[in-house]
Amino acid sequence: MKLYDMHTHTAFSHDSVCPMEEMAEAQLAKGVSGFAATEHCDCLTFSRCDNGNALLASCLAAEQLDKEYGGAIRIFRGIEIGEGFLAPENMRHALSLYDYDIVIGSVHYVHNPNGYSGYCADTDFSVFSHEELMQFLDAYLNNFMLMLKNTPCDVMAHLTYALRYINGKYGRNMDLCVFSDKIDDILRYIIDHGIALEVNTSGIDTAYGDFFPDERILRRYQDFGGTLLTLGSDAHTAERAAVGFRRACALLKQIGFTQYYYFEKRRAISCDL
Ligand SMILES: [Zn+2]
Ligand SMILES: [Zn+2]
Repeated sequence: MKLYDMHTHTAFSHDSVCPMEEMAEAQLAKGVSGFAATEHCDCLTFSRCDNGNALLASCLAAEQLDKEYGGAIRIFRGIEIGEGFLAPENMRHALSLYDYDIVIGSVHYVHNPNGYSGYCADTDFSVFSHEELMQFLDAYLNNFMLMLKNTPCDVMAHLTYALRYINGKYGRNMDLCVFSDKIDDILRYIIDHGIALEVNTSGIDTAYGDFFPDERILRRYQDFGGTLLTLGSDAHTAERAAVGFRRACALLKQIGFTQYYYFEKRRAISCDL
C-alpha cells in the first residue's frame, strides 16, 4: 500500500530545524510516496514566530524539491492554521500567499472566556484542579468547533491533542467520555462539511501512547458514516517521519475502513489501506 504523510514541519516552522531535504530523504527511506510540508501558521503569534515569508519560502522550496525528485516522492505544499478564528486577518493573509495543496486547521491555544486561556504546550497542568481541567477541556472542544466554523480547512488536525500534555506530560488521566456530545457534534460537522479527519500519529510512542484521536473516536466517526481520513505524523524532525503509520493503518483496517486520502490542489485523492 502507498503511504502519504499529510502533516509535517520543516525548518520553515518556528519549532523545527529540519531541512526539507532531510525530511524528504527520511520519508523516502520509510517508503512514503508523498508528504505535505504543513508549516505552522499560529495566527495569534503570526508576526512574532510565524510569518508569511517563511510560509511562502516553504511552498517555493517544496515546489522545487518536488520537481527535483521527479515523482520518486511527491512533496505537497501545505499550511497548518492554528487559532484562525482568534486572528482572522492573519489567517486570510496566510491563505492568500500561495495556492496550497492542503490546508489543515488546528487548535493549540485554548481561549477560555470563563477561566484559564493559553497554549496547551506551555501550560503547567499539574497545578490544575480536576474541575479546572474539566473546564479547560470543555473550552478546548468549544474552540475546536469555532475553529472548524471559521477556518476554510481541508483537514481537522489532531483532535484531542490537549491530552498529549494533560495526560501524557502531566499524567492527569482525564477522560473525554463526559464530552462525548461535543465530540459527536464535531464529527458530524466535519462529515457534513467535507472536512477530513486526521489520524495524527505523533503521540503513539510517547508518554501519551495513542493516536489523536484514539480508537474510540475513530469508531464513532465510522458509526456516523465518516470515511475521509488522512494520516499525519506531525514530524518536526526527520526521525519522526511517518512514525506509527503501519500501526495506524492496521487499526483503521481493523475498525473497517478500507481507504484513506491525501490531498493535492485541495482535492482529496483516495488510497487503499
Ligand atoms: Zn498542530
Ligand atoms: Zn503540526
